[in-house]
Amino acid sequence: MIVLKFGGTSVGSAERIKAVAKLVDTTDKKLVVLSAMSGTTNKLVDIANYLYKKNNEAASELILALEQNYFKVIDELFKTELYKQKGKELIVSHFKSIKSFTQDLFTLFEEKSILAQGELISTALLHFYLNENNINSVLIPALNFMRTDKDGEPDLFYIKENIQREINANPKDTLFITQGFIARNAFGEIDNLKRGGSDYTASLVGVALQAKEIQIWTDIDGMHNNDPRIIENTKSLTNISFEEAAELAYFGAKILHPASVHPAKIANIPVRLKNTMKPEAFGTLITGKSNEKGIKAIAAKDDITAIKIKSGRMLLAHGFMRKVFEIFEIYKTPIDMITTSEVAVSITIDDTKYLTDIVDELKKYGTVETETNLSIICIVGDFIAESKGYAVTIFKALENIPIRMISYGGSRHNVSILVESKHKKDALTSLNSTLF
Ligand code: ASP
Ligand code: MG
Repeated sequence: MIVLKFGGTSVGSAERIKAVAKLVDTTDKKLVVLSAMSGTTNKLVDIANYLYKKNNEAASELILALEQNYFKVIDELFKTELYKQKGKELIVSHFKSIKSFTQDLFTLFEEKSILAQGELISTALLHFYLNENNINSVLIPALNFMRTDKDGEPDLFYIKENIQREINANPKDTLFITQGFIARNAFGEIDNLKRGGSDYTASLVGVALQAKEIQIWTDIDGMHNNDPRIIENTKSLTNISFEEAAELAYFGAKILHPASVHPAKIANIPVRLKNTMKPEAFGTLITGKSNEKGIKAIAAKDDITAIKIKSGRMLLAHGFMRKVFEIFEIYKTPIDMITTSEVAVSITIDDTKYLTDIVDELKKYGTVETETNLSIICIVGDFIAESKGYAVTIFKALENIPIRMISYGGSRHNVSILVESKHKKDALTSLNSTLF
């Protein structure tokens, strides 16, 4: 069994859906995980936000426009009247349910149901298209097996039992399709794995089915050695380790959802990043071993906030760090970077939802300063924090860039540097020409 996940742009139009159908029409046993067509989930979020604000008119307008878009897709996707009709009925029924939410009280439950529609539609469309073209496939509903526990974490035991049951119920079939992103929570209500969560679905089902490989298909050939939106002539990385992939995914390489690396790593299932626009390209293969030493890639993560806590007396007395960390734990806010000196500790976060509360609590222990509009530049590779020379090379490249924080030696795979976002482009450019 292999798992293939296609992202939003890979199913973003009738033409792209047809290309996916071609790619999955092979004889080996596979489970295809789909995202919503690109743009859909964003629109559904907008609709939900209007409904929260009781602006039902604006919501209805967006709903109608989105529905019209889908009618166009149907028209281009199917050739026969029969399937054009089936497609139309599908869209009408999903939009009927979306429209019903404009009538009543709008809560988190309705929001989750609305957000689920994109994946439900894209998977049904591919399934119909394959049927119309006489390619057998089985659509298995993610809501029958994807589930999170009381802490909102995937319930792998439940997922395993139930997806295996669904697959085993169709012993003669080889092509299965399911929705990424959507799940049920511990109470059985519709929920999701958060934005970009389809990659996470693919990884979890890959593990649950002990797949030979998990393939993540996007519109770029794998992970690159620098940010292709900023730097020209970046190269795709052919082989990297789970650790390197996790660092890159977390620190900005938008191609892969960071949470999706961990389950695959634990189960030691290779993850392959592929390009739907260029299926013959090798892409990036992520496995338990990394074949090359040294610096492999640079990524950057924006919208970082630094918090500096400065105190004369209490600081760095034993127990101080615990108190500081506890505050972040209470507010469920992950820390990205941390550096300490004898009189101060600096921490960076990217989730600023509880920033005011966190700062208020930290003030009990000293003076607190915050700084926004920062970027973390992350340099990833193997042994880079254990070998000679890398630090000099990196900092030489950054000699003209003011550096706000440095994290070196936290893992052997990464060196992180915090700069003001206005210096990001220069930093990436200069590192690129020095390191590669
Ligand atoms: N459709 C969802 C989103 O846009 C999940 C995904 O694409 O991975 O966030
Ligand atoms: Mg994605």
